Formats: sequence, structure tokens, C-alpha cells
Amino acid sequence: MIYLDHNATTAPAPAVVAAMLQTMNTTWANSSSSHGPGQDAKRALGAARATVASVLGCRPAEVIFTSGATEANQLAVRGLLAAAEPSRRRILFGSVEHASHLRLAQALAQRGLVLDLLPVRPDGTLDLERAGALMGPDVALVSLMAANNETGVLMPTQAVAGLAHAHGAAMHVDATQLIGKLPFDFASCGADAVSLSAHKFQGPKGVGALLLRQGTPFVPQTPGSQERGRRGGTENLPGIAGMAAALELLGDLTAQAERLATLRDALEAGLQQALPDTHIWSCGVPRLPGTSYLRFGCRSADLVLQRLDTLGVAASSGAACSSGGSEPSHVLAAMGVPADEALAAVRLSLGPDTRFDDVNTLLLQLPPLLAAAA
Ligand code: PMP
Repeated sequence: MIYLDHNATTAPAPAVVAAMLQTMNTTWANSSSSHGPGQDAKRALGAARATVASVLGCRPAEVIFTSGATEANQLAVRGLLAAAEPSRRRILFGSVEHASHLRLAQALAQRGLVLDLLPVRPDGTLDLERAGALMGPDVALVSLMAANNETGVLMPTQAVAGLAHAHGAAMHVDATQLIGKLPFDFASCGADAVSLSAHKFQGPKGVGALLLRQGTPFVPQTPGSQERGRRGGTENLPGIAGMAAALELLGDLTAQAERLATLRDALEAGLQQALPDTHIWSCGVPRLPGTSYLRFGCRSADLVLQRLDTLGVAASSGAACSSGGSEPSHVLAAMGVPADEALAAVRLSLGPDTRFDDVNTLLLQLPPLLAAAA
């Protein structure tokens, strides 16, 4: 199997599984218990927190463990909004945020807040000028992803944080797709709150974190004394230990990014040469090194994915499947891509286990199959 769906999830690294097993076998007690085993679990939790903080450039007290990025995003937005001045009734979200996050924004808009979406240009990059024009003294919160999960496009979160803060608004960044793929430092990133998810960087599913800058006005949303009262519920210690192990394994992300960009560029160039009607979105702009978002002429994504499947290649479409039917990607729609082209979108996302041989195999085998399906 050639796995080219790393933006969806990654296989847990062996060291991650080992760390989780060890935690389940040894420090399984409740870290809030005052007895010996409970205190062992508490120490293990503290050690994992210290590792997460040191890899991500924050203080241990700034880490709030969650069940993943969906929860971290929700906690950030609701917690920051609950602490904002009541006169601030407007929220700004990126127009190409993750579907779950946009749904949260819409739910808040239905409850009386005014939602404005930060527009992107046809190449998927954020229109910073128009973002600036949307700022104002009535904005409570700006929420923008660091990298898009479909196009891989990197967003100017630091510049937008500067704009948000100049207008007295809080800034949240969903860094789920960036953390683990490119270097990240919370101390210098400019945001008040940052979400991440372990399963995107060879950690386990169902665990992530919200990094919340010390001193940021925030109202907890889940009652309970855990996580310094900011997120109640017994911590998922095996998951947290697995996430810490995955972060420790990341190593030199600049070198890894260069390797993946080289592989991705070779893949894109080879596909365009063999199939000249290949169109690649966002290929000329700063984007995640291993992400390629493309269509092969007007061949439907369903057809291409089925052919990839016969070759043993796992990839995904840009379409969100809902109730049996495929809907064009909201990301491509925001870029102004017509629905028929968007329904042809296929995402190939490379990762740490992708090798040059995988790219070569794909380049040898896919073009003849697709040429026959023209
Ligand atoms: N945000 C982005 C940008 C994502 O790509 C994802 C996962 N697809 C999420 C949030 C949700 O993450 P989780 O699976 O940890 O809830």
C-alpha cells in the first residue's frame, strides 16, 4: 500500500505505541488521586506536559490537553468569546477553515453574533487587505488556520494576529495541519490560542491540545478541576504520553520539509508531463511541503480515487461526502473554482514514510490508467 493521505491522519509511530502501552501498563491510575499510584500518574502527566511545552515553545502551564483539534478549536472560540467585552459582537473566521470549525462559527452566528469570513484569492492565499478592512472595535475574536488541510496553503496568521490585537480582538489559530510538518514556536507565533491534534504527526487519535497564552482572558467551558480548571475530565494519559512521544520524534522539520517538497514537486512535474491536462491548485504559493491538490482534466475524483485504489494507493478527494452524495469542497468554492472542476479534486498528501520509490511507482502506473479513462 502507498499511503498518500497524511493530511487525513498518520499511522502512529512504533515509539508512540510503546509509550502508550507503557503508560497503560504502569501509570494507569487517576492523576488526580492522592495515593502513590495516582502521584505516579501525575508525575507522568507532568513529564508529558513538559515535553509538549518544550517542543512547541510554550510554558507547561499554557498547555491544555483536549480530545483533539475539534475540541481545542471549540474550547478556544467559546472560552475566548465568553471573556470578551459584551459590546464586541462580531467574529471573523477564515473562509476556508475546517468544516467542523465553520459549523461552529455558523452556530455562533445563529445565536446572535455577526460572522464575517476572511476571503481568499483564487490561488488559495488569504486576502490580507480585505482581512484588514474587516477589522474593527466591535470584533471579539479572529480565528484563522495556519495551513489549509486541502490546498496546504500557509496563512499569514502572525500578520492577522497583529491586526486583531491592534483592534483589541483575541486571536485563535488552528495549527492542526502545520504542527508536525513545519517548525512552530508558540512564544513567537503571535496568537493567544493555538489548536493541535496528535494524529496528524504520528501520534494517537482522540488527543490534542489547546495552547493558551498566559494571562489571556478565558472562561472555562467544561467544569472540573483538571487542566488548572480550564478543561474538566480525567486526562487521557496514554494518549497524552503518545502525543508527547510523537512530538519528541519530529526532529529537524526543516530537513523533512525539504525532502517532502522535493518528492511532491517531482510527483507534480511527472504527472503534468504524462497527463498535460493535470491542473494543480495553489502550486505557486507558500504551502505545506507534502500536499498536492489537483485534478486530472475533468475526470471525476471518484474515478481517479477508484483507479488509485486498484493500484493500492490511498488518497482522498477534496469533496466532503454528506449523506451519500458528494458536495464540492467549500475551500475550492471560496477560491472561485466552479463546482464541476471542484468535483474532480484529488488530494495527495505525503508524509514521513513516503519514499521516492512510492512517487516513481505512482508516476509509472497512474498515467496509463487515467489516459485510458479520458
Ligand atoms: N482542523 C483542521 C485544519 C483539520 O485538518 C482537522 C482534522 N482533519 C481538524 C481541525 C480536526 O481535528 P481532530 O480530528 O483532532 O478533531
